[in-house]
Amino acid sequence: MDVEDNVPVGMSDEVLIAQHEGRMVKSEEKAQGEDGEVMTTHTRPGTVVMYKPTESHGYMPRTVSVSAIRLLLRQGWRDVCPDCRKRHIDKNGVESTDPNLCSARDPVAVRVCRVCTKRIFDNRRFTFDGKMGGDDENVIEDEAYEASTPEERTKASLDLHYWTWHPREAAMMKIAPLPAALQPTAPGEVRVGK
Ligand SMILES: [Zn+2]
Ligand SMILES: [Zn+2]
Repeated sequence: MDVEDNVPVGMSDEVLIAQHEGRMVKSEEKAQGEDGEVMTTHTRPGTVVMYKPTESHGYMPRTVSVSAIRLLLRQGWRDVCPDCRKRHIDKNGVESTDPNLCSARDPVAVRVCRVCTKRIFDNRRFTFDGKMGGDDENVIEDEAYEASTPEERTKASLDLHYWTWHPREAAMMKIAPLPAALQPTAPGEVRVGK
């Protein structure tokens, strides 16, 4: 008898909320006060990985504040990935938002930032099936905006990351300057997209 399908995945919403809601994490910060160095302790809500429903790409893992769990569950988010019916655990045993940890999905290409080792995934694809206009004869269907490759897309995203977060290294690596529309207005800030 195959009972596999009847095994509940994850815990009930109420248990999940009870376990995490109100969970706080402490962080300590050194600051220069009048009498020398002062240690301040900040307390903020902890975080948890939840799986967000998307229209075209199944469920996507996101790190969210535990204070949002109740609301997000109501909006259809899950605590276990409904696509592979598991939590996504990385090789260190930690639940992670790495999109390549889902066994139910084809892996996406990835580039790694050489400065901070952030992983830049090829998850910004565009719809292109060669017929964007449907029955409308006036829509031009040529290859002027032909689909890009994973190499091009991740390079564009990583270049943007370098210029936004590591402008000095970007200059040293001789990365082509960003188009004006994408140039950061302040360090760590991008005007369009991200
Ligand atoms: Zn999954
Ligand atoms: Zn980086």
